[in-house]
Amino acid sequence: MSLTQTARLMDGTGPAARIVEEAAAQAAEISRRTGTSPCLATVLVGEDPASVTYVRMKRARCAKAGIRSRHLALPATTTTAELIDTLAGLSEDPDVHGILLQHPCGPHIDERAAFEAIAPQKDVDGVTTRSFAAMSFALPGFVSCTPGGIMRLLEAHDVDLAGKHAAVVGRSAILGKPVGMLLLAKDATVTYCHSRTADLPGIVREADVVVAAVGRPRLIRGEDVKPGAVVIDAGYNPGNVGDVDFDTARTRARLITPVPGGVGPMTIAVLLAQTVDAAASQLGIQRH
Ligand code: NAP
Repeated sequence: MSLTQTARLMDGTGPAARIVEEAAAQAAEISRRTGTSPCLATVLVGEDPASVTYVRMKRARCAKAGIRSRHLALPATTTTAELIDTLAGLSEDPDVHGILLQHPCGPHIDERAAFEAIAPQKDVDGVTTRSFAAMSFALPGFVSCTPGGIMRLLEAHDVDLAGKHAAVVGRSAILGKPVGMLLLAKDATVTYCHSRTADLPGIVREADVVVAAVGRPRLIRGEDVKPGAVVIDAGYNPGNVGDVDFDTARTRARLITPVPGGVGPMTIAVLLAQTVDAAASQLGIQRH
């Protein structure tokens, strides 16, 4: 492949729109058959501006797809015990089908303990250890939304992963770690990189697929991208900048996600699809 070639963009808006359309049709069918529409509870602790925006965006997308949302804005002073109580209450509320705890919740909250208070059948954001284990063993359950969205994006662009070397940069519980497990399930050979990785550029240079999930603007340099690689940039930094140096990476990659418009829309689409699936299963509706 010529080094002056420009990569094809891995647009996420089109595939996301198709997922949302399907979720909306299913939500409408649930309403018609049960008289109730799917409901996502969103829980926010404090008023972090980025988190407020994310939750607002997710609720707006829900509304457009015929999914109700119930928002709980808790004060920044909320304790872990109070948050757990709230989540346990929502887990038992039959009118709520999915629960999203927006994170980060603040340094004083034991986030892991809070996530575990979400009932697995309502864990539409795929954050509990039970959901993670189910995903790892390829058992039924909800996947973490961004990793799930990345896999659906790869599928939409016909990327064959079997035998490919995938470098996942980042190992968070909601993104890096699960996306690595999902790539492994598709027979990729996966290398996890993180802040202590000795030679990140060297590993990226060997990778057929790079997933950047760090939160450091332009950490992945274009010159390190293997010619012909597939580059997924999940990073989102101030100023609409990803974790990959897009302008140089696109001269070497075969496929590359734009930021924004790549991974972001897929994440929300998976959240909506999983909320509708959760409602269908709780209300006893078979999928067609
Ligand atoms: P996180 O919890 O802060 O994890 C960041 C990871 O990057 C950690 O594993 C960390 O390593 C690693 N890291 C930090 N500096 C590094 C370096 N210099 N070299 C290699 N690895 C390094 O972040 P996150 O929640 O996974 O999110 C990551 C990015 O994705 C952020 O930009 C976030 O905004 C974005 N995001 C986007 C979406 C979406 O829908 N598009 C959804 C979620 C997150 P250690 O483990 O060693 O600390």
